[in-house]
Amino acid sequence: MSTILWDDITFGPIHSRRVGTSLGINLMPANGKICSFDCVYCECGWNKDGRKNLVIPSYAQVAAALEKKFKEVHGHGIKVDSISFTGNGEPTLHPDFPKIIDCTIALRDKHLHGAEISVFSNATRIGDAAVREALMKVENPILKLDAAFNDLAKRINQPQGPYDVAEIVENMKLFDGNFIMQTMFLKGVVPAGSVDNTTAENAEAWREIVLALRPRKVMAYSFERETPSPGLVKATVEEMTAIAAPLMEQGIDVQINA
Ligand code: SF4
Repeated sequence: MSTILWDDITFGPIHSRRVGTSLGINLMPANGKICSFDCVYCECGWNKDGRKNLVIPSYAQVAAALEKKFKEVHGHGIKVDSISFTGNGEPTLHPDFPKIIDCTIALRDKHLHGAEISVFSNATRIGDAAVREALMKVENPILKLDAAFNDLAKRINQPQGPYDVAEIVENMKLFDGNFIMQTMFLKGVVPAGSVDNTTAENAEAWREIVLALRPRKVMAYSFERETPSPGLVKATVEEMTAIAAPLMEQGIDVQINA
């Protein structure tokens, strides 16, 4: 498959279907991947194929790269909607993630006033108070929950350590609704058998979780590019709309991207 592994700390701005003009920040290794999940749909490819470089950039390297890029983007008069932590794996795994968020906020206020800060996270580290507090400081903490049941989450996300949906939901409650939930909908054959998170059973349990959490917004989407697991089928807009409709009727803001 054609994987996307970024070769630097910053990339873009690029157009993101979910956050608009997005200046990307990659806290994981250049041309390598480190993640606490190994999702069957990951654009970075399988974790095992991303081990050429496992050196993560230092805080000083990140701070210098951000200042340089923010000044450059401002100098070119480019309007950025979102400064987005995404890249080659899970950004909150960086040991200085909280300090990097403080630095990003300060640099944004200095050079890119008006841009929101978004962190695309798989939520595996929100049980850590420092990580959670850092996420609470940004405009858009975008937290993943792909399945309502542990066995399905394990087949879709392939967590690399202990993972429990109920525990993640409890930790999400601490955000008091001030977060965005992201859910990838798909179906098909995967290494551990098959997956389908569009079934009535999963959709109903997922909606119950959303209603208990009442996130500021829900991003329901399907994959855009080739996936490491070749037997996957995208969920359609119609399927996701049908799943989300009862939530929208109850005032939940749901953004759907097929
Ligand atoms: S959480 Fe994100 S980076 Fe990690 S494996 Fe899943 S899609 Fe890839």
